[in-house]
Parts: sequence; structure tokens; C-alpha cells
Amino acid sequence: MEDSIFYKFAKGELKPDKIRFEDDKLLAFDDINPNAPTHILIIPKNRNLRSIVQMTSEDTKLLGSMIYRAKLLADELGLAENGYRLTINVGKWGGQVVPYLHLHLLGGAQLSGDLSQFTKAE
Ligand code: AMP
Repeated sequence: MEDSIFYKFAKGELKPDKIRFEDDKLLAFDDINPNAPTHILIIPKNRNLRSIVQMTSEDTKLLGSMIYRAKLLADELGLAENGYRLTINVGKWGGQVVPYLHLHLLGGAQLSGDLSQFTKAE
């Protein structure tokens, strides 16, 4: 987890290409390989969780603040009227690739409704 690229972003050891928001608790930046015209990732800076699996009751405020930040960014970027998607992938079957908790904000176009698609598990 400590060698995850998002951990390094959180600690300021590396900088994402385009930062959208930063304060002492959260960092939001553009996804390097966007799946929509707007694709922003929001991560905690001071809480090192691999995924939602490691979340505890003490993290509810943090998760709320990540969602609220996504909402504010979506408002700022004019995404609210047509809608957008917030996603957290969890673990291998959830499609999570980077092992450091992050929230996806996707918008700017009609998104596929195929959330229930699955492939045969290995
Ligand atoms: P997930 O599949 O939920 O783990 O999503 C990881 C996301 O991180 C993917 O959408 C990647 O395109 C994105 N990503 C990976 N490396 C970087 C990076 N260096 N800067 C910005 N986004 C990244």
C-alpha cells in the first residue's frame, strides 16, 4: 500500500498531472486514462485504506467528505444538471486496480448503464 502511486500522491512524494482540489484531508485529480470527458479521482491524504474492505465506523465522516467533495466538483464543472456517476471499485472482482481507497467522479456524457455486467470469475 505504501508503494501505491496514490499513497505517494497523498503524501506529496509524487504529483498527479492535474490537481482539481486539495486541502489538508483530500486530494482530487484527473484520471490518467479517463473513461468519460470528466474523470476525477478523490483520495484521502491521511488515511491509508487499501479499499472499502478496510473501512471502519470511524471512516464514515471521511467517506462522506469524499462524496461531498465530488458533489462540489461536479457542481463547479456543470455536471449536476445532466447527472454523473460516483463509483468506488472494491477489490479484484470489483475491478479495483490501485490498492489505495479512491472515489471516481465520471461525467460529461451519457454513461453506460451496464453496472450489472459480469464475466466468469477465474
Ligand atoms: P480502480 O480500477 O478503481 O483501481 O481505478 C484506478 C484508476 O486510477 C484507473 O482509472 C486509472 O486510470 C487511474 N490511474 C492509475 N494511475 C494513475 C496516475 N498516475 N494518475 C492518475 N490516474 C491514475
